[in-house]
This record gives sequence, C-alpha cells and structure tokens, in this order.
Amino acid sequence: MAALEHRAATLDLSEGCARCGVAVGEPPPATAGISGGAVPPFYLFPSGNAFHGTCLASEVMQLAPPPQQQRIHTLLTRLSQVTTLNLVAVSPALAGVA
Ligand SMILES: [Zn+2]
Repeated sequence: MAALEHRAATLDLSEGCARCGVAVGEPPPATAGISGGAVPPFYLFPSGNAFHGTCLASEVMQLAPPPQQQRIHTLLTRLSQVTTLNLVAVSPALAGVA
C-alpha cells in the first residue's frame, strides 16, 4: 500500500474514453448517463485505460445485479446534484474544513 501512495501517472486529456471515445478532458456524451456535480470527471487505470466517471459507472451497471444497479443510479444522481455550496449545506460538519 505504501508504494501505491507514491505512484503517479500522466494522462493526456485528449485521450479518448475507453467506453465512448470522447476525450476524457471533454464532458461525456449526454447518452452516457448521469454526470456533473461531484461525479468524478474521469478515472485512469494502471493499464492506461481512461474512462469518464459517468462512462465507468455505466460499464459497471451493466455487470451489476438490478438491486445494485438501482443503488448506483441513486448514488450517481445524488453526486450529480452536489456542488461546493450545497455540500456545506448538506453537511455542516464540513463547513469548518474549508
Ligand atoms: Zn466516456
């Protein structure tokens, strides 16, 4: 685990998402699913594959059983509605962090 803490990778934001092909520095297509807010813009794997956060969630949802698909959908919806302002409103304990 200690070695993982110091591992780094460089990603060219013009590299295409492994699912949709759109550059990971650009927003995913609207058809990819729920995005925005606090949904991570992209993920980079040690294999070098990069996915938009939304595209990766869609990929995982295809493999998950229906109850977990619903849970992922619910969490993505909630994350997409989080902004810096309402993060403080939702969790007053975090207000002191900033
Ligand atoms: Zn994508």
